[in-house]
Amino acid sequence: MRFNHILYWQKALKISIITILKIILIFLNISFPSPVVLFIYMSLYGTIELMKILDIKNLNLGFECENGFRQALFDVNFSLQKGEIHALVGESGCGKSITAMSVLKLLPKTAQIKSGEILFKEKDILKYTNKELEHLRGEKIALIPQDPMTSLNPLFTIGDQLLEVIKVHQNLQGKDAEKKAIEALEAVRIPSAKSRMKTYPHEFSGGMKQRAIIAMALCCNAEILIADEPTTALDVTIQAQIMNLLNEIKSENNTSIILITHDLALVGENADRISVMYAGRIVESASSEEFFTNTNHPYSIALLNSIPSLNKEKLETINGQPPTIQQNISGCRFHPRCKSCMDICKDNIPNNISIGINHFSACFLNNKD
Ligand code: SF4
Repeated sequence: MRFNHILYWQKALKISIITILKIILIFLNISFPSPVVLFIYMSLYGTIELMKILDIKNLNLGFECENGFRQALFDVNFSLQKGEIHALVGESGCGKSITAMSVLKLLPKTAQIKSGEILFKEKDILKYTNKELEHLRGEKIALIPQDPMTSLNPLFTIGDQLLEVIKVHQNLQGKDAEKKAIEALEAVRIPSAKSRMKTYPHEFSGGMKQRAIIAMALCCNAEILIADEPTTALDVTIQAQIMNLLNEIKSENNTSIILITHDLALVGENADRISVMYAGRIVESASSEEFFTNTNHPYSIALLNSIPSLNKEKLETINGQPPTIQQNISGCRFHPRCKSCMDICKDNIPNNISIGINHFSACFLNNKD
C-alpha cells in the first residue's frame, strides 16, 4: 500500500512538472529562456530523470548475415520509470524481444550494436564487464520468458532450481536459502509452498510454472522484470491471474516492468505507458490513458481497429506484411502498408514529434508546415 502512494505521488509530480513547464513557456512567450527559467527547467528535468531506472538511447542494432550487415533496430529510444509497467507493443518480428534482450546483453553471436546507450541507473550496460553483467542478470534485471514450459529444467525439482538462483545471486546457503525459496513461492501464491519445493516442473500446470519463474525473479529482488509475452502460452483465466500477480509485485515492491506483447487488450488493462514498435522503430509512445484517448500514428490506429469487437460487422486488417530484416525500406518504414501514405513518406524518415504531454509520434501527418 505504501508504494501505491509513492506511485500516485510520482505520477502527480510528473504531470505537475510538465504542466508547470508548459505554463511558464506559454506565459513568458520567449524563444531564449532566461537563466532563471533555464535553472527551473533543469532542476525539474533532473527530478524527472531521477525517476528513470532504465533509459535506452538511440539504439542501433543489426545482424551479420550471409549477404552482409542487416539492421534490425533503428534509433530506438525507450525509458522505464521506477514502479511503472511500460508495454512494448507490435507485430511478431518488429524488434520487441531483441530490444529487451539487448538490455541483458543476451544477444546472438551475429548481433552487433552499432551505436546507442542502455543506461541502467545512469550507467551504460553496454560498457559493463562480464562480472558486472553476471550481477545484473537475474539480480537487478530478471527475465520472465514467453514459454514457461521450456524455461525450467525438467531434471531438477522446483526447489533445486530456486535454491541455485538464491545461492548464486544472494549468497545464502542451507536453511536461510530454503526459507527464502519458500517465501518466494508463497509470494507468487503457490499453495503448500514447502512441499511444492520437492516437485518437478512436469507436475506443475502452465500457470504454476510461470509463477515459479516469477518466484525466481522475486528471490533476487530484481528491480526490473522483463516480461516477454508472459501469458501467451496460458489460457485466459490464468492470463488474468499472472497479470494480477505482476501488478501486485509492481505495487508492493515498486518493481519496474517491461511488458512485451502484441495484445493491446492486455496492455490497456495493465500498462502505465505504451510504446508501439514497427519494423525496428518505435513509432508512438504515450501514457496508457493518452494512447487510448488520443491515438495518433496510423499504425497504432490500424492495430486498434483490428481488435475484434461485438460492435464491428467487419474486422479491419492491415494490408501486406511487416518487412523482413532482408528488405530495405526507404523513408517511413510503414509506408508500403499505410492508408495515409504521402509522397514525402516514401523517401524521408519522420522524426518523433511531441503531440501531447509526454506523447510522441513519428508521422509526417503531424508536420504543421
Ligand atoms: Fe503513414 Fe506517412 Fe505517417 Fe508513415 S509518415 S505512418 S507513411 S502518413
